[in-house]
Amino acid sequence: MIYGLTGGIGSGKSTLSQMLQSYGFQIIDADKITHELHRDPYICNTLTSTFGPDVVMHTLTGICVNRKTLGAQVFADPNAREKLDAIMRPALRHEATKRLHASTAPTVLDAALLFEAGWQDLTDVNIVVLCPEATRLSRIIARDALPESRARARIRAQMSDTERIQLADRLIYNTGDLANLLRQAKRIFDIDIAFPNCPK
Ligand code: ATP
Repeated sequence: MIYGLTGGIGSGKSTLSQMLQSYGFQIIDADKITHELHRDPYICNTLTSTFGPDVVMHTLTGICVNRKTLGAQVFADPNAREKLDAIMRPALRHEATKRLHASTAPTVLDAALLFEAGWQDLTDVNIVVLCPEATRLSRIIARDALPESRARARIRAQMSDTERIQLADRLIYNTGDLANLLRQAKRIFDIDIAFPNCPK
């Protein structure tokens, strides 16, 4: 069983994934794969030929993407964003697919861009984590030490919850405490069925 897990920035996807991992689910985290791809020399070379040499840096462990300079180039320029997506998304999908095929446990594909990238064909059930914008805003400001304007801009750059809800099979409301989140997760991810020996 492959669960797609998505939701807006700061909605609680990683928090939920960590809970599920502790029960034995295999987690495939699209953000983590992106970070790994940012150290891939082929990706770095493709990015430099598209965006110039400033978008990578050379470290003791090898070449890697300079997320700051790359982010600055694509953030306000939809054309540049499209070019970046055309380079990163196929590589990301290829790597995620490889890991999905290798998985031997119920698996969660944690991806903010699940719907934007059209990855529904990789998953059996798609779950959206919802959380009010004001809560997400204060959580990402605290987590990433961002000014409010930048945090709002990040939220605006994503698909809206209204659109996500239309594409979702199941919804999780991360509006309470962590115990509340876990209660919903147990029901929606059938934890007691998938892992009958796990603590109740
Ligand atoms: P991103 O899209 O940026 O990766 P995310 O959806 O993975 O975000 P998390 O990182 O899981 O979101 O959560 C955002 C912040 O909110 C984190 O600091 C997390 O600890 C906190 N958080 C998540 N859920 C709860 C909750 N129910 N109660 C309190 N804090 C929470």
